[in-house]
Amino acid sequence: MGIRVFYIVALCYALISGLGIIHNSLGTPYTYILISIVFLYGLYYIIKARVELYHTIILGILINLSSQLTGGFNSPLFLAYFIVIPLIGFRSELRDYWIIVSVLVGIEVLAGIFRHEILFLPATVLVLSIFVFGLFIERILARVDQLKHSLTKYETRDQFFGPADFEAMRIITSIKDIDRHKGIERPLLYFVKFIHNMFDAYTTAVFSYNEGHLILIQGFSRSELFRPDTVIDLKSGIYRQVIAQEKSFLIKEFSQDPVELGYYKGELKISSVMIAPIILVNKVEGILVVDKKEGQFTEDDKARFDEASNTFGYFLGMLRLYEKERFQARHLLSIAELGERFQKELELNEILGDTIKTVKDFLKCDDVSIAVTDELNNEGRVLASTYFRKETKFPLDEGLVGFIARHRSPILKEDLYEGNPIILKKGMKTKSGSFVGSPVLGDEQLLGVIWCEDHKRKKFTEDDVKALVILSSQLSLAWERAHYYEMEKERALRDGLTGLYNHRHFQESLAQEIKKGREVYLLFIDVDHFKLINDTYGHRAGDEVLKFLGKLISHTGIACRYGGEEFTIILPGYSLKKAMKTAVHIKDSLLKSMVKFNEKKIKFTVSMGIAGYPVDATTRDELIERADQALYYAKETGRDRIVVARSLTTKK
Ligand code: GH3
Ligand code: MG
Ligand code: MG
Repeated sequence: MGIRVFYIVALCYALISGLGIIHNSLGTPYTYILISIVFLYGLYYIIKARVELYHTIILGILINLSSQLTGGFNSPLFLAYFIVIPLIGFRSELRDYWIIVSVLVGIEVLAGIFRHEILFLPATVLVLSIFVFGLFIERILARVDQLKHSLTKYETRDQFFGPADFEAMRIITSIKDIDRHKGIERPLLYFVKFIHNMFDAYTTAVFSYNEGHLILIQGFSRSELFRPDTVIDLKSGIYRQVIAQEKSFLIKEFSQDPVELGYYKGELKISSVMIAPIILVNKVEGILVVDKKEGQFTEDDKARFDEASNTFGYFLGMLRLYEKERFQARHLLSIAELGERFQKELELNEILGDTIKTVKDFLKCDDVSIAVTDELNNEGRVLASTYFRKETKFPLDEGLVGFIARHRSPILKEDLYEGNPIILKKGMKTKSGSFVGSPVLGDEQLLGVIWCEDHKRKKFTEDDVKALVILSSQLSLAWERAHYYEMEKERALRDGLTGLYNHRHFQESLAQEIKKGREVYLLFIDVDHFKLINDTYGHRAGDEVLKFLGKLISHTGIACRYGGEEFTIILPGYSLKKAMKTAVHIKDSLLKSMVKFNEKKIKFTVSMGIAGYPVDATTRDELIERADQALYYAKETGRDRIVVARSLTTKK
């Protein structure tokens, strides 16, 4: 969406600046700048759902700059592009960078053509520099990705080597400092520190090995030249051998440049080094390094060092297990808490809202949605979502959500940019990079689907899938319970024989409708000589007659069984003419039909009374009484007829 807005704005801008309409008519470039920026931010707020703020800010800056450069490429301010463009690259995702930059160049070229002042040399320089910057940024992002996917992502690593430590010219953390670090870092720190002290090292460094790179995950150093954010490309260098041969090295007299060790920046002298692979289940997972500034490590040291690196392997395995377990424990805890809350909740909307909030929290993703599925009609409908509009309908055979419903199995999509899969339905584009979803399976049938999306790629893991599946089983229990509750509630309002609303609901509804203040008509219906039907054909035949009449009126207004063979219909917002038409329609339908019972054909008629609020009555009870009176009058004057309460008053 952000990019789409960008396109639109860029196009408008190109046209405006190219034709020079606003610029020429307003005279001063400052007004022009102001209008452009206001226009932009206006757009941002109107369509802000998915527009990234920084896109618009950067665009604002660009428009500002460009309008100052009304001369386009031949102005000296044109150089500002060399600052702005890389800035965009650093601030946005790679894909956006290329798009933004291409559009930008397009705009300027277009504007230049319109003004007939395009200069080809600067244009070529610009395009070339964009290309170079693009490649540069791509490399940097790849490295950032590498770091992100390394085995440890300790948030506190930067704290650990905080600026204060460098100021004090010592990186060694005291035991007290270690206590500040919680969870998994603490035992790791203890162990590294233990090794550091054991060998009286100048620097101790632990690297994680990941796809041809070594990433420093923990270290102690007495040098201010130590670089805590070291990432080493293993194409060459001393660590390559260690990894290839899976054995440790002792360099008694280190004569190389210490920069080769990777974790120092600047000049210093190192006298002796030991390097060992950290092996976990026959696989090199990392590297342990200790160095000395003065003196030498001995063979004895090396034997102990080998032991230490072995132990480190087990240690690392344990830590990883711990990290994973802790992660899962956190997942399970929030699911358990959600389950507990479900126990007390019976309203489906509340349950779904709570689920969405909880899932969004513990998976830390951008969007969560839940849809109900109707396999019979091959259709789904969004019930709750942080993103999709409620009640959005979609077919079950187009997108990922439908796929989950049809196959009743969870799906994990790590990269939605690949192959552009559809989430809900064709034509509905998504900005998401990754997706995970699970069916919500009830006792016997499928209830719906819950799914999560994130703008980033590779956001979800197999663990997330498991967590979501466990959660959806919890949800299905609550969902079914809410469903039964809803049905129970509905049943309590209904009459058992006819399925119409019962007397109590009639009273409540009528009061509610009157409270709304608009016109309400009330229709009373009573079967003529019903006792005779019972007596002639039997009680069960009488029941059939009642059911038949109930069905006939069920779709008009709020149809209720008042009691016995008396029915009533509330007609909110009706006029007398419309109410009359309804009554006549019922009467006509009865005239044309009959009830079949045990081969017998029963024909019957009804009498009706009509009264309206506020013309005939000002309260509910009065309205009922007036309609009843009209009905009574219909009976008295021969049955099989409709009487309007108003006609009685005029007669009197
Ligand atoms: P009128 O034309 O004056 O209305 O005569 P009616 O016989 O219809 O009126 P009345 O109110 O005297 O009789 C109603 C009868 O309806 C009495 C009762 O036994 C019967 N009844 C009430 N509820 C039911 C029911 O659920 N099923 C059946 N079969 N009969 C019912
Ligand atoms: Mg009656
Ligand atoms: Mg009757």
